[in-house]
Amino acid sequence: MKTVDWSDFRDHIATADREGRRKWMYPRQVHGRFFRWRTWFSWLLLLIMFTGPFITIRGNPLLLLNIVERKFVVLGQIFWPQDMIIFAVALLVFAVGIIVFTTAFGRLWCGWACPQTVMMEMVFRKIEYAIEGDAPSQRELNHAPWTARKFFKKALKHGIFFALSFAVGNVLLSYLIGWRELYQIITDPPARHLTGLGFMIGFSLLFYGIFARFREQACTFICPYGRLQSLLLDENSIVVAYDHKRGEKRGPLRHSQTFGQRRFAGFGDCVACNQCVAVCPTGIDIRDGTQMECVHCTACMDACDTVMDKTGSQRGLIRYASLNGIERGQPLRFTPRLAGYLVVLAVLGTVLGLMLYLRSDVEATVLRAPGSLFQQMPDGHFSNLYTVRVVNKTSREMPVELRLENPAGSLNVMGQGSIVVAPQQHAENSVLIELDPAVMKSGATPLVIGVYAEGKKLETLKTAFIGPRN
Ligand code: SF4
Ligand code: SF4
Repeated sequence: MKTVDWSDFRDHIATADREGRRKWMYPRQVHGRFFRWRTWFSWLLLLIMFTGPFITIRGNPLLLLNIVERKFVVLGQIFWPQDMIIFAVALLVFAVGIIVFTTAFGRLWCGWACPQTVMMEMVFRKIEYAIEGDAPSQRELNHAPWTARKFFKKALKHGIFFALSFAVGNVLLSYLIGWRELYQIITDPPARHLTGLGFMIGFSLLFYGIFARFREQACTFICPYGRLQSLLLDENSIVVAYDHKRGEKRGPLRHSQTFGQRRFAGFGDCVACNQCVAVCPTGIDIRDGTQMECVHCTACMDACDTVMDKTGSQRGLIRYASLNGIERGQPLRFTPRLAGYLVVLAVLGTVLGLMLYLRSDVEATVLRAPGSLFQQMPDGHFSNLYTVRVVNKTSREMPVELRLENPAGSLNVMGQGSIVVAPQQHAENSVLIELDPAVMKSGATPLVIGVYAEGKKLETLKTAFIGPRN
């Protein structure tokens, strides 16, 4: 069995000790231009996330993923189970898009837009700093005996964490069932919505667990995207990288030493201050190279830039760069691999666009009524009974007309005489079709039925008219 080399970062994870116990991370507070830009961007994302359930497009929600009722709305477009093929293609486009993006720009998504990073670093972590102070104070508080002050701080922090997790859980639930349904769950007596309440409590506990305890482990253990990184990145991908050519050999900066003397002695720009490690939320040392645990949060870039400012060196010892960029000074290159991914993405995108463009607002199916036989009428005509199912994918009421287009005959909708489908609903009607024996074939006669709405033909249905064999 191979023994663990604790001096080699590849042999163990930064968040576990030699006994395999979790090492709690105390990342230091970070300040700098990237953090500032990420903060603004995260406010925008949080605004979209929290207002999203209330935004409607043509009366439909911005996003609704109601798995239980199999109702999906994306950007105001309603998708039904019948549209699953579009969903499957959209998922493929999404997956290939991620591959292309990651190959070119590494884990930019993780650092800037992933909800886990945004909520953890920009909301929960900031609350923790506000209540417990920076990393050294947090460490000291955690190791201190229980006092009224410690109890108050912990209770306040976890109370706020739970309230926020409850809010986040409710937002997620409103993306699943819609905010009106959620409002009903909140305002109705609890006994009437036990399942909904169960989900609400479950989501709140889940998010509280993730943001209060589980934290960076969601990225390093659970998230499959991080695991894919080693497959997708190549030497031209832009990642958060330490410029080892410029930084090595590391060594502390001596006040008695000028930069010229330092360089002459073989030292680089890295002054071995470890600030880049101290701010890292996943506990890694980016100077060891690109690692799976790196979520590209840019904290080490800001920390190192601050150090470079103080030492009078140029910023960017840790920066967005590719391996080739650092080793050979090459800018981002358009590689054949990237071109191949882009071609696949373009093809899938075109297929998806066409599917969305050709997708009709109404979908109809016709089936012969189960157990029914053809009948001969007193005038000699034959009749067959059918069941027509019409799905209205729009958010407006849809009167639908069925016309028998081939062969000539009559088509009557039983009951009300017409089909009107409520918004986002489906309707099932019995339809009686009569044919003159002169136009019938022996056994089965092919039928063509046109489906019309608002004066436009939306669909053509084909079925068979059963009659006697000659
Ligand atoms: S912050 Fe910069 S100078 Fe300090 S150890 Fe990290 S890379 Fe070296
Ligand atoms: S190495 Fe730098 S960019 Fe990567 S997670 Fe740590 S601090 Fe963030």
